[in-house]
Amino acid sequence: MSLLTIGTVAFDAIETPFGKTDKILGGAATYIGLSATKLVKKVNVVSVVGEDFPVEYITMLEEHGVNTKGLQVKKGEKTFFWSGKYHNDMNTRDTLDTQLNVLENFDPIIPEEYQDCKYLMLGNLVPMVQKTVVERMKNRPKLIVMDTMNFWMDIMMPQLKETLKLVDVISINDEEARQLSEEYSLVKAAKKIMEMGPKFVIIKKGEHGALLFYREEVFYAPALPLEDVFDPTGAGDTFAGGFIGYLAATDNISFDNMKRALIHGSALASFSVEKFGTERMVGLTDEEVGTRIQQFVNLVQFDITI
Ligand code: AMP
Repeated sequence: MSLLTIGTVAFDAIETPFGKTDKILGGAATYIGLSATKLVKKVNVVSVVGEDFPVEYITMLEEHGVNTKGLQVKKGEKTFFWSGKYHNDMNTRDTLDTQLNVLENFDPIIPEEYQDCKYLMLGNLVPMVQKTVVERMKNRPKLIVMDTMNFWMDIMMPQLKETLKLVDVISINDEEARQLSEEYSLVKAAKKIMEMGPKFVIIKKGEHGALLFYREEVFYAPALPLEDVFDPTGAGDTFAGGFIGYLAATDNISFDNMKRALIHGSALASFSVEKFGTERMVGLTDEEVGTRIQQFVNLVQFDITI
């Protein structure tokens, strides 16, 4: 089934206890695209970059199955830039700099060939742009998943809540869930967020896995204990790409299938953190993905007779 994602395509500068990078390829839509194309043949992207964005990056995305027809390149403007520094626990980070640049006046144009997409991933981006994309789809997609970030909650909470009313699933981390709901308990937070629009709430807890809430039910997917974590940047987006990619590939949006999608998202995210930036996701093989999903199955499988 066809999949459309929006989100930033960006330059990132990252600092972790293991090293530092200059401007490298990043952005929510980049990670979502590279992840989802492990599960579906093609991912359609709507985003924007400046004229400073290297053509090689666009070629690389295309070679991986990311359709960049909806990626606008703005003459005389600069690409979105984000810089972050991870703490020693690698689970928390500080944003050092966010330069919106091309994002400031971004008008998302949806190419005609994307209009039949049944799965829509609203990757991290200006909340009003996320809403505009939903409104510009001629038919409502079968499933709309939204990701966002504390940055937008700090400056555009009312607009973010407007977008939230339109989506089926939200995927955010624990800190963001608490900020959005003003509840410390994640169970209470998920309940409150469900009242804001989404029927399904995913709360990511970094190296402690992810929770999926639906009505009174909750499902837990662990994160794989890894020997080396070099750079968690993009893990949340890679997770989201794997999650919606699996749902689109199987065209099944039942709660049970969402559990399997959560495991696929977690498995793909576990690769992303093993190297800096997008390095690990580029050239990742189907065999590696299959082996890792089996590791997840082994990690949580046990027999108990009650
Ligand atoms: P994640 O680690 O999954 O939260 O995503 C990190 C990616 O999000 C980086 O590649 C950044 O370029 C991108 N990013 C950072 N801040 C924002 C923002 N305010 N809006 C959209 N994307 C962002």
